[in-house]
Amino acid sequence: MTPILHIQDLTKTYQSTGHTLTVLDSINFSVEEGSTLAIIGPSGSGKTTLLGLCAGLDRSSAGLVELNGIRLDNLNEDARAQVRNQHVGFIFQNFQLLPTLTALENVMVPMELRGAKNIKPQAMDLLDKVGLADRAHHYPTQLSGGEQQRVSLARAFSNKPKILFADEPTGNLDAETSEKVVKLIFDLNREAGTTLVLVTHDAELAAKTQRILRMKGGKLISDERTVG
Ligand code: ADP
Repeated sequence: MTPILHIQDLTKTYQSTGHTLTVLDSINFSVEEGSTLAIIGPSGSGKTTLLGLCAGLDRSSAGLVELNGIRLDNLNEDARAQVRNQHVGFIFQNFQLLPTLTALENVMVPMELRGAKNIKPQAMDLLDKVGLADRAHHYPTQLSGGEQQRVSLARAFSNKPKILFADEPTGNLDAETSEKVVKLIFDLNREAGTTLVLVTHDAELAAKTQRILRMKGGKLISDERTVG
């Protein structure tokens, strides 16, 4: 079976004060469509950078990234954005909602970018699904952290992504909200077959996925199947 995500010799370096900082060092792995995967490892080990490269948010220094059969590493920003709009959902660590738009408008953005029709009722349905129908017209500053995270989930779900990347999806949430968010993410996998790639410090969350990749110092140091 063709993997939904294929990474080969992926390397990311930064130039700083005359020397080269290698943040990702020749990473290799593939992810099967419909599967669930967690990326774990200490702070600074390159997890967020790896997720951003896999999702086409950033560009590698060397190596191959193939998402749904499309090579991302040699595409420019506009072309990568198109692939993201079509295939990718992304949940950011700090939510990254647009502050001048309401919850509903934030959810509608990816739909507008895709040129979808009749989007308002669909966006309302998504907000309802994450339990926020009554907050549709609130702005991000009027929402709690957990509510903002749920809006960002609804936004990530709105283009029916083939693959969802989430960076510490439960990082800033209390136990109860965290449980709700995790359920929504795994429901998406079960109901729509969306592939999940999660970066997390949360061992309980990682254990819920089928496979755990461990990073250290920019390298992939283990790749284990779990009982899921
Ligand atoms: P993690 O998600 O595992 O905490 P990150 O991917 O955020 O790790 O960061 C990995 C390393 O890359 C860190 O040492 C960080 O300082 C460095 N880094 C990230 N972004 C940049 C950048 N734009 N310029 C220079 N160094 C960076």
